[in-house]
Amino acid sequence: MASRVVGPVAGPGGAGGAFVASTQRDADDRELLAAVFDASAAGLALVVGEDLRYVRVNWAYRALTSAPEVDPVSRTVPELSPLPAARIPNLRRALLNGQPLHLEDHPVPFGPATRWFSCRARPLRHAGCPALLLELWETTAFVLARRSAEAALDHALRRAAELDAVIDAIPDGFVLYDARGEVLRYNGSAARLVEREGVDPRTALASPGLWRRFTAADGRPLAPEDAPVTRALAGETVLGAHLRVATPSSAERWLLASSAAVRAPDNRVAGAVLTLSDESAVHALEDARDDLVRMISHDLRTPLNAVYTQAHLLRQAAQDPAKVSDRARAIVRSCERMSTMIHDLVETTLLEAGQLQLAPIPVDLASLLPELVERLRGGLEVDRVALELEPGLPPLLADPARLERILTNLLSNALKYSPGQAPVTVAVGPEDGGAAVGIAVSDRGVGIAPEDLAHVFDRYYRARGARRPEGLGLGLYITRLLVEAHRGRIEAVSALGQGSTFRIHLPAAGREGVE
Ligand code: ADP
Repeated sequence: MASRVVGPVAGPGGAGGAFVASTQRDADDRELLAAVFDASAAGLALVVGEDLRYVRVNWAYRALTSAPEVDPVSRTVPELSPLPAARIPNLRRALLNGQPLHLEDHPVPFGPATRWFSCRARPLRHAGCPALLLELWETTAFVLARRSAEAALDHALRRAAELDAVIDAIPDGFVLYDARGEVLRYNGSAARLVEREGVDPRTALASPGLWRRFTAADGRPLAPEDAPVTRALAGETVLGAHLRVATPSSAERWLLASSAAVRAPDNRVAGAVLTLSDESAVHALEDARDDLVRMISHDLRTPLNAVYTQAHLLRQAAQDPAKVSDRARAIVRSCERMSTMIHDLVETTLLEAGQLQLAPIPVDLASLLPELVERLRGGLEVDRVALELEPGLPPLLADPARLERILTNLLSNALKYSPGQAPVTVAVGPEDGGAAVGIAVSDRGVGIAPEDLAHVFDRYYRARGARRPEGLGLGLYITRLLVEAHRGRIEAVSALGQGSTFRIHLPAAGREGVE
């Protein structure tokens, strides 16, 4: 059976009170309690009365007060305590209403520093008076450790967010794998490479099947053990492997893949990072360059051969003036074709680099068009061309030489791709209440298949089955770039076997500036 403390408590040197033992055993218990009280590492104090006067205080409590050299016994808590003054009324209330109180991590200024304390106040009666047993301990080290852990966590979370933003912002695909090859993190570019309806990118990027869609640069399928991630997880570093991949949209992409192992502090492979940069644009440029070289060598050689042959024949026919004149004309035509091709190439380069300087002036189409058609006589079958000019045409703000180039390209195509007797019309009229002018060049020729129509304004594009080997497939491309440089637009409608209409819309002078 537990002993009861029945009398007032007197500490060594404390004022008043004593344990009153009913038996020897009570006396022993009382002595034990006093020893435990005094020796406890937690600060213990017994306070009585509304003024919270100390009647017994152990060494640990005394060490926690702001003046350890002063004995707290007979003084009051408001006078001498490590608790903030604002908490004293709470203690007083606990003493009066008998409700235990727990104050946690209360900051208390100690000179320039701050210390933190927790306190439990247990109401009891002592010598017939309401009393509180105060249990006090310092939590400064704990609070500071928690604060620095929170700051470290905050820092780590901010860093992680920054890293996420960086990973998401890089145009290259980025994937982070764990040691088992599961995906821990990936960015949008990586997801787009494996995008497939209903398949989570995380699953697709971790799937061994992913690499079956890849081939090496030389077209060989990629062996599973050659997959960059597999190699990185085996501890290797893969730098810039050129791979080809068939994307879900069935377009082929060229990728530069790099991968490296992520190592744990003990040097174990803990995962791998994979980056995939899309090299398709570079490959497309290389293809375009190869096409260009092929085209130039083929298409420029044709008129050059003609020049060579005609010059040869010219030498043999030196005595016959009629033949000399024919051959000379053929030579001039071939030279003109070569000159046009070279001009097209230069003009394209300037347009693409944004370096073509236009010299716009107000241009009256009603006088420019008939003059142009007359000037083209000899080179083109202009007798087939009918001009339909609506009255009240506003002047255009255009570079006349470039505008002639646009119209000549459309006219020569219309004549080139339509039979000998078929008419070609050029219909011109105001648009948008005079803010623009529309020019439609129509022929009744071979027409363009729908699958070609979408591409006729592309660089080097020639419709399949295009009859004549003339030109580089740059005519309509340059036409579009020139129209756009004039802030206009061009479109084409066509039906196979029935003919085509190319329609351009250009801003009228005085409404729109031209760069
Ligand atoms: P090219 O120099 O080969 O004529 P263009 O850029 O002028 O190149 O035209 C591209 C392709 O568009 C041509 O190869 C031709 O197949 C097609 N095309 C252009 N204009 C017409 C037209 N009026 N009728 C039919 N096909 C056309």
